[in-house]
Amino acid sequence: MKKAPDILRIEEIQKEDIPSVGGKGASLGEMFSIGLPVPKAFVVTAQAFRRFLVETGIEDRLFATMADLNVEDSAALDEASRKAKELVLSVGVPTSLQKRIREAYRAMGSEMIVAVRSSATAEDLPDASFAGQQETYLNIRGEKDLLEATRHCWASLYGGRAIYYRAKQGFDDRTVNIAVVVQQLIPSEKAGVMFTSHPVTGEPLTIIEGSWGLGEAVVSGTVSPDKYVFDQRAGKVVDRLIAQKVQMIIPDGRKGTRLAEVPGPQQASPLLSDEEVVKLGMFGKIAEQHYGIPQDVEWAIVGPEFFILQSRPITTIKAGATSPAASALQGGEGALLVEGQGASPGIGSGRVAIVHNIKDVGTVKEGDILVAKMTNPDMVPAMRKVAAIVTDEGGMTCHAAIVSRELGTPAVVGTKKATAVLRPGQIVTVDGEKGHVYEGAREVAGAGKKEAMVAPVAAAPLITATAVKVNVSLPEAAARAAATGADGVGLLRIEHLILGLNKTPGWYVKQNRQEEFIRELHDGIKIVLDAFPGKPVWVRTLDAPTDEFRNMQGGEEEPHEHNPMLGWRGIRRDLASPDQFRLQVEAFKRLWKEGYSNLGLMFPMVSHPDEFLKAKQMMKGWGVDVDTATIGIMIEIPSCAILIEDFVKAGIRFASFGTNDLVQYTLAIDRNNENVASMYNPRQPAVLKLIHDAIQVCREYGVESSICGQAGSDPAMAEWLVEHGIESLSANIDAVAKIRDRVARTEQRMILDAARRTHA
Ligand code: PEP
Ligand code: MG
Repeated sequence: MKKAPDILRIEEIQKEDIPSVGGKGASLGEMFSIGLPVPKAFVVTAQAFRRFLVETGIEDRLFATMADLNVEDSAALDEASRKAKELVLSVGVPTSLQKRIREAYRAMGSEMIVAVRSSATAEDLPDASFAGQQETYLNIRGEKDLLEATRHCWASLYGGRAIYYRAKQGFDDRTVNIAVVVQQLIPSEKAGVMFTSHPVTGEPLTIIEGSWGLGEAVVSGTVSPDKYVFDQRAGKVVDRLIAQKVQMIIPDGRKGTRLAEVPGPQQASPLLSDEEVVKLGMFGKIAEQHYGIPQDVEWAIVGPEFFILQSRPITTIKAGATSPAASALQGGEGALLVEGQGASPGIGSGRVAIVHNIKDVGTVKEGDILVAKMTNPDMVPAMRKVAAIVTDEGGMTCHAAIVSRELGTPAVVGTKKATAVLRPGQIVTVDGEKGHVYEGAREVAGAGKKEAMVAPVAAAPLITATAVKVNVSLPEAAARAAATGADGVGLLRIEHLILGLNKTPGWYVKQNRQEEFIRELHDGIKIVLDAFPGKPVWVRTLDAPTDEFRNMQGGEEEPHEHNPMLGWRGIRRDLASPDQFRLQVEAFKRLWKEGYSNLGLMFPMVSHPDEFLKAKQMMKGWGVDVDTATIGIMIEIPSCAILIEDFVKAGIRFASFGTNDLVQYTLAIDRNNENVASMYNPRQPAVLKLIHDAIQVCREYGVESSICGQAGSDPAMAEWLVEHGIESLSANIDAVAKIRDRVARTEQRMILDAARRTHA
């Protein structure tokens, strides 16, 4: 290895220093040299790391921990990683090296607060796409903590994921080094990332995402950021999506960072002015022109000062790329292992954790790929922490698909054989757009980001006559849902809220703990209502088939049904179990009393107007003013569509097509059965006829017609529905923007067509 100093200051770094300072360090030096506003920094070089290994005498022992390691054996990989990291952390930094680090640190200023970042590098391939595999330590102050953070960065070179990547990319661990970038921590008021050109098409559109506090909140996907699009050709801001920025990451006292709540009024206020967007766009352009290719840039702003923290090439732009997910993959060419339906867009890589039953849920770790026959509500806690979800069974409307989309977690469903083909501990990459699962880990553009968590791009300025609402199941998704700019919630599925408690409603009744149940329900719904002030939120009463309750406490009381889809669910169950229906109504009553007049109720699985009338009667008996309350139904059973006029006469205030069920009950296609998934067609003429006829009746009587089934997230279906007079649509979080766009275009076309006809 070339002789080089232990420390290089940012102003000393040149392009040729990549092997010493890594891609990150070299890029900082280069940005400094072209005059971009980068914070003060120095790099503890790769040579310093090697010297540390030699002078402490741990080198041979360290590499022995990884000799003959089968990286596919996850237990062995974990053990090797643990031993290697322990060894690195067991020795101190040699005195002479310590002295140089301390000196460089002092030269930055007294007790400067810094970010300490790893910058991996290899001798023969200087910047071997190791981004995101090593640690960053933020808010480090003082020489002692700096030395400690440096050692931790070094140790991170031996994380399990990093060892695995290297083995798969054919690198000898001995040739891979690590440099440590010590950079002034900018106590940013706002920060984020920017793609200097469109990351998929390469068009000169700079996409800027940002949020309050440190940029890590955006990079890690903790928040839904604001999004701004700056057209470099026109020199102006052409789109902005202002998100509800609920949380931020801020320095935590003397060390580390913490999550904090963004003060109320700041949450929904725009992060950047147009001038700031333009200025960031200009810095991005300078970086892009210098490097000759579009860049993925991290930026920060404090007061009037702008900083560029990092810049690296976007490697996803390909000629003719068609979908973000398709082009977001980079790196190795792992074999296609299984295929299914892409149920929730995004890319996730990680270690396979197979969940056969609830007992296995404990083995699922942060960042794993959860693989199951089908997910259950009791798996939701595990689903929250995984990088992607893969199931054998199910279609676009199954539990796994619905929950994944809400969590913003990539998912592939209906693979038929994932639990048989994939092996526990195996590293795979899931493409939730294409429905593919590949062998090995592949990097995603803007490494470290959980792609799908980025707030969907809303065409915010579009105003449509047809309301475009959003579906919500988990209260934690409420902020992301609101950030889409949706006109309300067209379906809040409360069973997800209840099933997460892992106890059946019957259990609460039996234990005489009704109050707990009511409070949980009340609090969960309130979160969603608060996210949509002044906008309608249609809360659906409980609709869980008996098999979904089975694994929960109290589940042993559930009847065994031959076909739960046709069984004791929806309104029919509530009508037969007043003690459980009453608990829900109690929660609604409290919310109405607290002033949430935007709360509407929706009954699922109604087949005859008598059910609607009986439910209303029961509610009246429990003190609800049913004449003023907004109460409607879902059209999920063909009989309901056929009898819609009678429902209108019975007093429904709205009717929403639950096409997930309407399709299965009209066509006799089990919506969760992957064997007939190809025949599951919401645009089958019989389904369309039922929908068309029901819309016309609703229009005639001035009753709002809507859709909250998955078909409402399909732009082509949305177009058809608008043409046929639907009044509102409710889509998944990830689909709101594209649905609004299609609705707007359709409405414009219809207006033009009508105008042409009158002038013809
Ligand atoms: C539907 O049936 O279309 C619907 C939205 O309800 P769920 O998917 O919860 O059955
Ligand atoms: Mg349904």
